[in-house]
Amino acid sequence: MNEIKIFSPATIANISCGFDVLGCCLEAIGDEMIIKKSNTKGIQITKIIGEDLPLETDKNVAGVAALTLLAHLNFEIDFGFEIEIYKNIKPGSGIGSSAASAAGAVFALNELLNKPFSKTELVAFACEGERLACGSPIADNVAPAIFGGFTLVKSTQPLKIIELPTLDGLYTTIIHPQIEIRTADARAVLPTKIDLDAAVKQWANVGSLIHALHTNDHELFADSLTDFIVEPHRSKLIPDFDLVKQSALKAGALGCGISGSGPSIFTFSKTLQDAENVSNSIRKIYSKNNIPFHIYISEINTKGIKIKI
Ligand code: ADP
Repeated sequence: MNEIKIFSPATIANISCGFDVLGCCLEAIGDEMIIKKSNTKGIQITKIIGEDLPLETDKNVAGVAALTLLAHLNFEIDFGFEIEIYKNIKPGSGIGSSAASAAGAVFALNELLNKPFSKTELVAFACEGERLACGSPIADNVAPAIFGGFTLVKSTQPLKIIELPTLDGLYTTIIHPQIEIRTADARAVLPTKIDLDAAVKQWANVGSLIHALHTNDHELFADSLTDFIVEPHRSKLIPDFDLVKQSALKAGALGCGISGSGPSIFTFSKTLQDAENVSNSIRKIYSKNNIPFHIYISEINTKGIKIKI
């Protein structure tokens, strides 16, 4: 195989209670990438369509992640790779734009090299792309992009990813207000110390959310989707967050929270009909505030990155 075309999905990180550790993979939103073997050694990014992003290998997360993979082969292959990126996920949206490019690049290289690396190793390489995007090698978006479904980053040193089951029939409705919140700013509003009571409630929620996924318990899942630590600070950066949350829950959502570092807001629903009702209720609120927005509805993608040809 000399060429591969892939769909590299958007992802939701944190999922309310699981700051920096939980994530899930989306079916309906994602980038496309074409990766070709080339006679020129190393990595060239030859095309980016849809967004204004750097073509320089060391300034693009796809290039940095791919170079990290090649470094683990000691650059001992006598060909290189060309990467084309077709962006549908806006950078800075909070639904894993940089993660899709970083994860997609290393997944595709691994396929073209006959899979020398495990999924966990691919996550580690993709994390180096994330380091370029946000300053730290966070795995909570790249892990679900590569593994699919829900994932838990059990530890980063050494990197351990746990694959979790998903709930039957789960849909997400996501609103992406077209404002920019830099990951660095979203991190700057967080407290450096946390209250013990809040921490106790939070880790109870992480445990019960994982139990809910294993037992297909939608009610417990809904009851676990509360963030006592991060959301109270970050939600202030997102216009009308509280109104959106109230109306989504009233329209039948199982839960609602900030996707990654925002500004996107995610909700989960039990059925497509509920997801559409939630979408309509959020649309009404955002139509009043003059901020342009996109709304997406998606199932959970249990496979992760998909090969298209
Ligand atoms: P997101 O959570 O949507 O990935 P981040 O703020 O974490 O948003 O990452 C976006 C940053 O990464 C932007 O500064 C963007 O310029 C940079 N970047 C570099 N290469 C890419 C790429 N291929 N796709 C998306 N963002 C990229």
